[in-house]
Amino acid sequence: MKTELLIVGAGAAGIAAALSAWEAGCRDILLTDRRECTGGILPQCLHEGFGLAQYGAELTGPDYTDRITERLEHTGVRLVLGTEVLTIRGDKTALLSDRSGLTELHFERLILASGCRERTIGSLPVAGTRPAGIFTAGQVQEMMNLRGQNIGQEVLILGSGDLGLIMARQFVLTGKHVIAVVEKESRYGSMARNYHRCIVPYHIPILYRTTVAAIHGEGRISGVTLRHLDSGAEERLACDTLVTALGLIPERELVRGLGEPDWLFLAGNCHRVHDLVDSAVAEAEAIGTRVGGEFA
Ligand SMILES: Cc1cc2nc3c(=O)[nH]c(=O)nc-3n(C[C@H](O)[C@H](O)[C@H](O)COP(=O)(O)OP(=O)(O)OC[C@H]3O[C@@H](n4cnc5c(N)ncnc54)[C@H](O)[C@@H]3O)c2cc1C
Repeated sequence: MKTELLIVGAGAAGIAAALSAWEAGCRDILLTDRRECTGGILPQCLHEGFGLAQYGAELTGPDYTDRITERLEHTGVRLVLGTEVLTIRGDKTALLSDRSGLTELHFERLILASGCRERTIGSLPVAGTRPAGIFTAGQVQEMMNLRGQNIGQEVLILGSGDLGLIMARQFVLTGKHVIAVVEKESRYGSMARNYHRCIVPYHIPILYRTTVAAIHGEGRISGVTLRHLDSGAEERLACDTLVTALGLIPERELVRGLGEPDWLFLAGNCHRVHDLVDSAVAEAEAIGTRVGGEFA
């Protein structure tokens, strides 16, 4: 199998790159995603706040996804969902896996738009066991918003980035008790707008210069030891759920070791983490236009 342009990841960045490459004249584009739907992270983001620059409106993640996916339907971009790219080789071949098996694909240009992954509790020197009830914020967002699962009731959040604060508000709105957001720095890590929308109106406490030093519980988490970084004092706090929002890491394992060949381009969160979808899309459009123009 062959294609001129392979794009890995049909999130906002991958779709934007595909649309621009098509508009620039490339007529042989394969856009793949391992999920069964387009949009990447967006379908699980039920809050409003997407696409202000692009559409002049604050859309929810699913609405934003519908708009960009609809634009794809007016092009000849081949979209293949439920298809994971397993490996990329230096001879410009990719190994694709879907329900029918493995396929080797030769491409001329590759745009990697594989997003990012969350940093987990394992990245911190936290003592104790790892019982059930410890989740990343993205995990609970997917569990609650896409699968309708319950995650617990007494919630402590570690990390005050955008994802942590967005989920703090959702927990309150769904009847859970947010004990506190714990942050090692002396200021919240999110955009100001998320602090003012998600924390202030709900009076959610943020414990600054504090971290989780140990986890307690057998089977399910029953509490944590908090350490106040300036005084060194420690205290024990009961909770049945710990949600970590410790930051995002660009996901580019697929091209690790390949160096910087002239056929490889990175777009969106796998290049650098974008707080706003508009910024991820603008970057991807520029790359799509440049790469697509080579085939015009
Ligand atoms: C919780 C959260 C809230 C946000 N809130 C806002 C907001 O309010 N307003 C705003 O403007 N922006 C917001 N953002 C930022 C914005 O949503 C992102 O920057 C943008 O959506 C990233 O798009 P992406 O395409 O780079 O990555 P992703 O959306 O992560 O897409 C990557 C895709 O690549 C696929 N993929 C990865 N590896 C493979 C592989 N090997 N084979 C096949 N497919 C693969 C994945 O399945 C995924 O679908 C938020 C982000 C998060 C995480």
